[in-house]
Amino acid sequence: MITLIPTFLNSVVGLAAAFLLIYGLWRMSSPVTAAAGISVAGLGMLAVVLASFLLVFTVSEAAKPHLVVNVCLALSALAIGGGAAWWSGRKVAMTSMPQMVALYNGMGGGSAGAIAAMELFGNRAHGLTELSVTLLGALIGTVSLSGSLIAWAKLDSLINQPLRLKGQQVLNALVMLITLSVGVYIVFVTQTGVEPLMPLSGLIALFFGCALLFGVLMTLPIGGADMPVVISIYNAATGLAVGLEGFVLQTPALMIAGMLVGAAGILLTLLMAKAMNRSVSNVLFTRFGDTPHKKHGSITGTLKVTAAGDAGIAMRYAGSVIIVPGYGLAVAQGQQKLYEFVKLLQAAGVGVKFAVHPVAGRMPGQMDVLLAEAGVPYDLIFQLEDINDDFANTDIVLVIGANDVVNPVARTDKSSPIFGMPILNADKARQVYVVKRGEGKGYAGIVNSLFYTEHCDMVYGDAQAVLVQMIEAVRGLGLSATG
Ligand code: NDP
Repeated sequence: MITLIPTFLNSVVGLAAAFLLIYGLWRMSSPVTAAAGISVAGLGMLAVVLASFLLVFTVSEAAKPHLVVNVCLALSALAIGGGAAWWSGRKVAMTSMPQMVALYNGMGGGSAGAIAAMELFGNRAHGLTELSVTLLGALIGTVSLSGSLIAWAKLDSLINQPLRLKGQQVLNALVMLITLSVGVYIVFVTQTGVEPLMPLSGLIALFFGCALLFGVLMTLPIGGADMPVVISIYNAATGLAVGLEGFVLQTPALMIAGMLVGAAGILLTLLMAKAMNRSVSNVLFTRFGDTPHKKHGSITGTLKVTAAGDAGIAMRYAGSVIIVPGYGLAVAQGQQKLYEFVKLLQAAGVGVKFAVHPVAGRMPGQMDVLLAEAGVPYDLIFQLEDINDDFANTDIVLVIGANDVVNPVARTDKSSPIFGMPILNADKARQVYVVKRGEGKGYAGIVNSLFYTEHCDMVYGDAQAVLVQMIEAVRGLGLSATG
């Protein structure tokens, strides 16, 4: 009875936490409810972590002497991990989010691998199913750990070049084959009782070593620019690994949470690949931009440059303006100034909308979060499919720190790496202003034909500095112009 109550309570909290996670994830599907969704899911996580301490009442006689030390270790781990997460979460810049996600994802994979290691080295996984599932979770979690760490290093520019060896694919396949063979051999010797060729602990260590190596080898050749998609794939893998280890530990909360993360990661990967018109295998096995592409193609025309103030005033006297934010806006941290400028336009009676491309920035949803951070009302923010027809009836489009997501070659140039990627129809508007620092290319590394069209003017400068000039110019027109 003494042990039944804590076990029962722990299970009930676990189940409730799983529902909170599902509900939280559902709330995250809209920017309006996303922040609350994250809190709800966090509450679920907190509840399940706290409830796991109830299990101190159920430990075996053999484990009792270590109880105090183990509880202290668990509390220390929570304090150190929780503290580090709190500190880094508060200080991370919006443009560094992919690195942070990569790092935390790696830790998730590592945790799944560590659970599996405890089970395997402690000889606690017995039956064929249990052992196979433990090994599968160990493999996926460990690959996800080392792969995510390489992804983090690439995103943080600690590794700047994709490192490719000759015959890389064959080498990768060989390492995976060895890992799987060692795994199968572990199952074989433990199930049949046959004397292994080397001690079982050595085999398990070899299995983990090969899995770690595979994660490194698989991620090193992929270009840094493709890392967000790679992280999303590893995210799905981590979820799957955690779910499998949840099965091994018979913990419903871990199983449900792991599967949710796995499913969400898979959907996110597919969504990103679709929005970039690339297949997942193309991301994993081809370096982006490897496809030969005519540098300038049939692009004609010249770049025309205009002053920030003039562009600002033109927008003040327009009837309708659509703003296309991109990666550069996040780099410049110009979102607050952008909304300040928008409020001036609105006060002058200009109809303003924001158009967000699904892969604008470097993480899905990055622009929505950026605009929400500046207090832009959600009813001003439109996704590609909801706004693309409006561009043709719009006076001015302000492209700010965006490039690839408005490049018309995606529609016309079959040799372009972004051919087929749905783009925002900015080129269909009557006038376009593009704010960027200079002639730098976007993520895809290609020339943007929009910039060379007759009705497009470039406004060179850091997005935030340009916005300050636009605000000053509009304010300079006097109150009557804006009120
Ligand atoms: P791009 O990378 O195409 O372009 C960003 C532009 O911002 C650059 O041309 C750069 O030009 C400009 N810029 C950089 N810093 C500043 C600054 N401080 N002030 C003003 N401008 C600046 O970004 P988009 O958002 O248009 O497109 C996103 C790209 O990322 C797509 O190709 C997409 O496929 C890719 N991607 C997106 C993912 C996602 O999930 N969101 C995931 C993986 C890839 P300059 O240097 O001249 O200033």
